[in-house]
Amino acid sequence: MCCDPWWGIIVFTVIKKDGLSRMDSFKNDVIKEIRARAERIRERYVTDEVSSRRLFKEPERYNVKVEDIKFKDQSVMISLRAMFAFRCLFLSEEKTCAIHPAVLGGNDIRPQHCGFMGSIDARLGEKGYCRIIHAAGASSDDVDALASAIAFERDVIERCFNGGVPSIEKGVEAVIEEVKFYFLKHTEHFTSAANKENPSRNEPCFCGSGKKYKKCHGQ
Ligand code: SF4
Repeated sequence: MCCDPWWGIIVFTVIKKDGLSRMDSFKNDVIKEIRARAERIRERYVTDEVSSRRLFKEPERYNVKVEDIKFKDQSVMISLRAMFAFRCLFLSEEKTCAIHPAVLGGNDIRPQHCGFMGSIDARLGEKGYCRIIHAAGASSDDVDALASAIAFERDVIERCFNGGVPSIEKGVEAVIEEVKFYFLKHTEHFTSAANKENPSRNEPCFCGSGKKYKKCHGQ
């Protein structure tokens, strides 16, 4: 089953102001953002019944990466890719769908995405987009091409799963370290003339160290 586990992938941007100061609150904000997005996925994937049921509990694993990081004026824009591995509550021990129409006598109560066949015409981000169909491409009648596309996909899923961690907090740790490293590497960016002009002694230092100006470059 391609939903074993089911992966949710989102890309979003967060902005970090104040240099290296208040990293803890920045970390909490990122965690909050990721949690909210995972919850939105859970809300969307429900059975097509009068009293709908959710497919997913909390994600089983998180894989959070920095896609891009750059300065915007005195802030840093961080583009994050967060992946969540959900285990569908309807995926049976035998790895079959417990609410597949074949099981329910033709009645399909799965969310639309589950019943939707992939299409070669659908592009990334569109409904019906399937990585395997696209990897097999025009030769989708070719069993070997299909098998190798499936094997490739399995390998990617396994690596994402194994490279992931079981909690958001843990998943975000590496991101925070990368952001810190970026700030430290680009200290000179904060030392522009504008920032050096009459800094207040109690304000965070322009260099992004996170210390007060008086305890850093203002000594
Ligand atoms: S409802 Fe069935 S097809 Fe859809 S994610 Fe769950 S197990 Fe997979």
